Amino acid sequence: MKYAIIIPDGAADEPLEELGNKTPLEVAATPNMDKIAMEGRQGTVRTVPDGFESGSDVATMCLLGYDPKVYHTGRAPLEAAAQSIPLSATDWVFRCNLVTVIDGVMKDHSAGGISDAEAQKLLGDLARQLNLPGFEFYNGVSYRNLLVYRGSEEFDVQTKPPHEIPEEPAAKWVPKGKGAEILNRIMDESKALFAKHEINEVRRETGNNPATQVWLWGQGHAPAMPKFVDRFGVKDGAMITGVDLLRGLAELLGWSNLSVEGMTSFHDTNYAGQGVETARALDRFDLVFSHVEAPDEASHQADWKTKIAAIEHIDRYVVGPVLEKIRTFPEWRILVMPDHPTNIATRKHGYAPSPFCMAGTRVKSVVKGPYNERNAAASDLKIERGHELMEYFLRGGNL
Ligand SMILES: [Zn+2]
Repeated sequence: MKYAIIIPDGAADEPLEELGNKTPLEVAATPNMDKIAMEGRQGTVRTVPDGFESGSDVATMCLLGYDPKVYHTGRAPLEAAAQSIPLSATDWVFRCNLVTVIDGVMKDHSAGGISDAEAQKLLGDLARQLNLPGFEFYNGVSYRNLLVYRGSEEFDVQTKPPHEIPEEPAAKWVPKGKGAEILNRIMDESKALFAKHEINEVRRETGNNPATQVWLWGQGHAPAMPKFVDRFGVKDGAMITGVDLLRGLAELLGWSNLSVEGMTSFHDTNYAGQGVETARALDRFDLVFSHVEAPDEASHQADWKTKIAAIEHIDRYVVGPVLEKIRTFPEWRILVMPDHPTNIATRKHGYAPSPFCMAGTRVKSVVKGPYNERNAAASDLKIERGHELMEYFLRGGNL
């Protein structure tokens, strides 16, 4: 059996007045997703369990068949996996953003999209000045860096993602709880060092947001996730994504990460290249998971035109060729769904169950209607424990 899973990230939404009380998914022309829904079935799946924040780390883990209540230990450990940073069970990982705080107010969670080279210099100098045994900085892309702690200190801290507190007083959201002291010391020392750093002098002169400090959040231990093959018996899996977080999940699952030239997390991504690579990968892999971030990013900008265009491009250039290719195998199944909704009206991730559609071998048709939130919700296929979807998709198990 060959399996394809295509994730238009954040594609689901709520009806919008601008769209005549329809959702972007209802308005977008998606003949291939509609074919899947009408040949097969559609329904809804709750991918964000109660008590979790709606985000791709939680929702994707869930739809991959791993209960976040059991396996989610934080966002930073997943990104550490993407960077192949070795972690023992007792090591801690923190996301270490470079941010801009001015007059005590969080102005920018990305320090003006600071360059890799600038970030490396700042964190290198900070590590030297701190000289704290057990703490190691790892440079990621731009402002997205990691801090690993290998030592005997225990943490039970509340932290806050800096992108969730724009224009708020930073002091209100600094780490609190057991172990917070050392984290706040690192953040405070970065403030003092970065204030007079030459890189920030240049950034200010050129009109860019300076990196005024590091901001620590998203902490956790490495998750102990069983490999996908051990959990589901499907041998060779592959991930195609422009996002570190999902590359990290693939590493933990024991899957291969495939690259596509020109793949980004925005609407400028190489949709056609991703479609070709996803279809081609089905020859070599039993399961191919292809994730497109663009609809989510457009939703965060409240840009419904781009969101609709992104959905249409995914349908035409990814779902279309993959559906055509997978039909050439004797046994196959395909699943299309966003990991979570991202709502244009609020510019934030939503908590509504995600609509999904699937088709293929022994998947019987139930609902005669194109794929969208309304038709999916009208189906009696409602999966409350989202991590059960994978078993159902792979084997048509009972729900
Ligand atoms: Zn998002």
